[in-house]
Amino acid sequence: MREPLVARMREFGTTVFATMTRLAVETGSINLGQGFPDTDGPEEMLERAVEAIRGGFNQYPPGPGVPELRHAVSEHQKDGYGLDYDPDGEVLVTVGATEAIAAAVLALCEPGDEVIVFEPYYDSYAAAIALAGAVRVPVPLRVDAGRFAFDPGELAAAVSPRTRAILVNSPHNPTGTVFTREELAAIADLCEARDLIAITDEVYEHLTFDGVEHLPLATFPGMRERTVTISSAGKTFSVTGWKVGWVCAPYAMVSAVQAVKQFMTFTSSAPWQLAVAYGLRHDMDWVASQRASLSAKRDRLMAGLAASGFEVLRPAGTYFIQADIRPLGFDDGLAFARRLPERAGVVAIPTQVFYDHPEYGARYVRFAFCKRDDVIDEAVERLKRL
Ligand SMILES: *Cc1c(COP(=O)(O)O)cnc(C)c1O
Repeated sequence: MREPLVARMREFGTTVFATMTRLAVETGSINLGQGFPDTDGPEEMLERAVEAIRGGFNQYPPGPGVPELRHAVSEHQKDGYGLDYDPDGEVLVTVGATEAIAAAVLALCEPGDEVIVFEPYYDSYAAAIALAGAVRVPVPLRVDAGRFAFDPGELAAAVSPRTRAILVNSPHNPTGTVFTREELAAIADLCEARDLIAITDEVYEHLTFDGVEHLPLATFPGMRERTVTISSAGKTFSVTGWKVGWVCAPYAMVSAVQAVKQFMTFTSSAPWQLAVAYGLRHDMDWVASQRASLSAKRDRLMAGLAASGFEVLRPAGTYFIQADIRPLGFDDGLAFARRLPERAGVVAIPTQVFYDHPEYGARYVRFAFCKRDDVIDEAVERLKRL
């Protein structure tokens, strides 16, 4: 019988997360691999979802999303960044950022179009590009002066006459890098010069530390017209299971994305959309305190990893720390991560799995710090066995 999976998806078999989570269960390890919080989001926002369900808000919401949420997203972009988006036509609610990314790539890229991604990249990007029949062109982030960064010359050289789009994730998973004003300006200049569209994944927009500011690419001169901005509630409000995301872009691009999205899911999660609208309008203080709490967790895990002998990079945002395993006498993160559960009872993700060129990330593993303090402390205690 013919191999059931279509050829273009065959490189996307079992993800490393499934493998490592299975190892975590088998060995009774603490899972610092997958990036989801182990505490709940703001109480009042959760309560709004319950009220919406009990209040009969349980049928198909409108295709573009419930008006309350579209307005709340529009206000959020205006108040936070000075960006104007019409809630009727320039905002689209999606099933998390994941659907938004897939629908945007499918809607905007023809087969054969090239899409630039910074590697290491979030795994859904490569799959979305493959589904579209487009071609991914990776530009590496390498460690330079204590953070993962790209070389602007290398980025410019990656653009060809076939390049359609550049996918930009900042704050960046899995490296914890937050692109600087200069880095974003270089991306913006290139988009203008070569007539590219930008698709931005800003799901960690509120999770930056040490006073580092998140700057949406759409705020750069000329970029609002050529940028599809994507974010979601999962990371901001610690509700990764809700899968409520959104797209902000000019009318023509939003209607293109909606044309695809309507046949993937049409619409979704009415009660959660209402609750997230409430969260965006009333729970930003909770988000600020969450950011402070996460920053303390980052410091806690960084100190513990350093004490165990890792060389640790200080992330400016996200849920993740990159740790260099060389001081411990290892040089292959994949082999190291496979053995870590059995040796120390902790799970981490090898950074190289997020690269097309694994050599750039071979010496790093990723630890998530979005966990309760007692869980972090126990993991640190276990890692002392190394
Ligand atoms: C978690 C995550 C997503 C997925 O967001 P959902 O809203 O859960 O679909 C997308 N991009 C990055 C970089 C992430 O870390």
